[in-house]
Amino acid sequence: MIMTLDNIIQEIEKAQSIVILTHETPDGDAIGSSLAMRVALKQIGKEPDVVIREVPKIFDFLPGRDEIKSDSDIEEYDLAISLDCADFKRLVGNEYFEKAKQTIVIDHHGSNKMYGDINFVNPVAPACCQILIGMFQYFDIKIDKELGTCILTGIITDTGGFRYSGVTPETFEFTAELLEKGVNVSEIYKRVLETKTKANFELMKRTVNRMEFLEDGKVTFTYITNKDLEEVDAKIGDHEGLVENGRDIEGVEVSVFIRQRDNDENTYKVSMRSNDYVNVSDVCLMFGGGGHERAAGAIVQGDIEQVKQKVMKELKKVI
Ligand code: 5GP
Ligand code: MN
Repeated sequence: MIMTLDNIIQEIEKAQSIVILTHETPDGDAIGSSLAMRVALKQIGKEPDVVIREVPKIFDFLPGRDEIKSDSDIEEYDLAISLDCADFKRLVGNEYFEKAKQTIVIDHHGSNKMYGDINFVNPVAPACCQILIGMFQYFDIKIDKELGTCILTGIITDTGGFRYSGVTPETFEFTAELLEKGVNVSEIYKRVLETKTKANFELMKRTVNRMEFLEDGKVTFTYITNKDLEEVDAKIGDHEGLVENGRDIEGVEVSVFIRQRDNDENTYKVSMRSNDYVNVSDVCLMFGGGGHERAAGAIVQGDIEQVKQKVMKELKKVI
């Protein structure tokens, strides 16, 4: 059911125990929105738990990072809030969500499955964090330096540093306000976008070397295996940004990057990015995934060659 902000604040006020959850392999928007929600709810007298099992090291600077739990003793929360996650299957800690008395989903994916009791989904928002700005203003929550840092981290990561088409006038207005409040925008930018881990750099070298141009140069394809991840000692999040190298080459419409899954050798996580006209969310939906028009993902069975064939068969129809 789609409900209003009044329904959301009523449920938050009623709840004694609240858990905040987000999607697997969490990025800046996932972690930023979760920590922002925590700071905001504390302001109105709540003590929410944030459960995220793996947090990339680059987000260690975020306010409240040390309060993140990998599990909780509470089994049955009064309220579970899911942030930036389109699909119940991808929600880490979805056992808490399932058992909670009341559930709220806040997201910006057009492919959201509306799996909460209350669903607040705005597919034109460039980041889940940007939805939170309007929401917090409506709730009379003060957006201070701490809260602003969490929110801006999500906006900067999901818009590729204010570059993607989803950016709105509000994105810049909000950033300008935060600058006035003393939030160090360039520092956040540098930490979340410009600093690469050594392992990420090593993986980039491999994916760039292996990159193939298909369909008259309109598609790039590259991959990473578990052996690669092991050899470079990759940690959670070290694959981030690799799919973007292909997308940024002249003449390319779709970049495809596949990464072997550690729990099943014969399964790959597919990431896609497009430039102008291919809706990669629709393509990924064919494999049970989803995302946004210009950035999406799915899980596909097979070895590298089989996954490539399956993906290319679908892409040929739309390229
Ligand atoms: P990435 O390629 O960075 O992993 O993901 C790009 C976008 O697609 C993100 O917004 C992410 O939430 C979404 N996405 C990635 N993988 C999946 C998936 O398996 N299922 C769904 N529904 N969305 C996905
Ligand atoms: Mn997001």
